Amino acid sequence: MINIPRMIGQGSESNNGSKTKEPQKPKKPRCSHAECRKKIGLMGFTCKCSQTFCFTHQSPHAHDCSYDHGSDKRKDIEAKNPSVIPTKLEAV
Ligand SMILES: [Zn+2]
Ligand SMILES: [Zn+2]
Repeated sequence: MINIPRMIGQGSESNNGSKTKEPQKPKKPRCSHAECRKKIGLMGFTCKCSQTFCFTHQSPHAHDCSYDHGSDKRKDIEAKNPSVIPTKLEAV
């Protein structure tokens, strides 16, 4: 078997054969909670860990958030003490 009907395979036959309703969009918002994966659609909540969750898992405690919410305050303190940054720049 040498003659492989490539041209036929590239035709519209393959397209008609498979039911392709919509091109799979990667952005179908689902709850990022491992045991939830619920479709959230427009009701999604984007956490500070850049993950999207349903209403139930939106709180950092509900999804064991990887974002260090505690460091928020630390950053705030650093911003008020900018002396750290010039020191770093001088070192480089
Ligand atoms: Zn969820
Ligand atoms: Zn989170």
